[in-house]
Amino acid sequence: MGSGLPGAFTEAEETITRENMEIHRKLVDDARTEGLATKTWIAIIDNKTCNGCRALNFTTIPIDDVFIARGISVNFPGLHPGCRCSLGFGEAEKLVRDLEQQERTIEELPPEEKEKPEVKTVLERIKQALSRLKRFLFGGR
Ligand SMILES: [Zn+2]
Repeated sequence: MGSGLPGAFTEAEETITRENMEIHRKLVDDARTEGLATKTWIAIIDNKTCNGCRALNFTTIPIDDVFIARGISVNFPGLHPGCRCSLGFGEAEKLVRDLEQQERTIEELPPEEKEKPEVKTVLERIKQALSRLKRFLFGGR
């Protein structure tokens, strides 16, 4: 019924997706009111996770920016019917400190641990999130 959602969703699917989005819209509004500056997409990663949600996992952006996935931009989950993603909110400065701590923890792992693909993936995600956050904090958006 031309609601503007991407893809060919049934009416029931659109309703569920809209309800999910309304919940997240409220969460974003509350976080902004509390003075939080960033939002982080958090996906549940398993064999049902779609590529769009998988790619967005741990993406941290300024609270009023949009996430880009599958060529569409969204302010918050859900990305599609059945989307199980959620959001984390933070002070940008605190998130940078937390991520840097995680980065150091990984850097200090024994070499054979650090070489594991899943560890490398996590480290890559952390580095990407840090560079985005630092651009946000120190200008050059
Ligand atoms: Zn999702």
